[in-house]
Amino acid sequence: MVSKHILRQCALAATIATVSIAAYASHSWNNYHWARTTSSFTLQVIDSVSSDWNDELSLSLSQWSQSQKLDLQITGSDDSTRARKQCRAVAGKIKVCNAAYGFNGWLGLASINIDSQGHITRGTAKMNDSYSSYFASQDERRHVMCQEVGHLFGLGHTSEDGSSQQTCMDYSTDPQSTAPNQHDYAQLEAIYNHLDSYNSYAIGAALTAESKDVPPMGIRVRKGVFDEMWAAPDGKGGIWVHHVTLAPGHEHTELLD
Ligand SMILES: [Zn+2]
Ligand SMILES: [Zn+2]
Repeated sequence: MVSKHILRQCALAATIATVSIAAYASHSWNNYHWARTTSSFTLQVIDSVSSDWNDELSLSLSQWSQSQKLDLQITGSDDSTRARKQCRAVAGKIKVCNAAYGFNGWLGLASINIDSQGHITRGTAKMNDSYSSYFASQDERRHVMCQEVGHLFGLGHTSEDGSSQQTCMDYSTDPQSTAPNQHDYAQLEAIYNHLDSYNSYAIGAALTAESKDVPPMGIRVRKGVFDEMWAAPDGKGGIWVHHVTLAPGHEHTELLD
């Protein structure tokens, strides 16, 4: 017997899947974005990466900050093992973490919380050091860092078949695919073209209350060759949405036929 709970989750899944397919041509992620009352905004970043990821983090933040729409500023850091493993989301900010999260099938994980009005309120990007052999390649480290952070602004993938668009938002191993390209910056211009009536990002240190839980994964709502999307209700009228970059050996290659 199918419970009401499952039916409700399926309805949520169907809605998200339909919206996402329509959105891929422009590679925004369901048009998710941070609410802002100004044309550009500064998004605070909490550095929860160990020293061996510092170079990739700062490179990625400086590259994304070249967008006219957003600036990224590290305003906090906690690289204790506990903080990196938990990677709790902080209201109004993004957090970037690395740890050995286990052989769970994902290499990178981007999670955003969407409020009841459809705006991003917080996000986390995690790099899974359990697959450290894959991360021996600096190109791959840069690619995954750049992509997981890019998801936190509402960007999706430019392709999901392994083809190269020379951006970190693709799934190729092209050495040119380690950074944002002009199309990504143009996409950010489009996503952040309008103004909202409130800000969903933190200004100053005002919003620092951490959510109690690590974002729940919920259910899988999309399966791609190299990626999956998961969604879970947040219990406050919003949802958590996740982009999973599958680890080597966990790709859904059967979809390539
Ligand atoms: Zn808006
Ligand atoms: Zn991704």
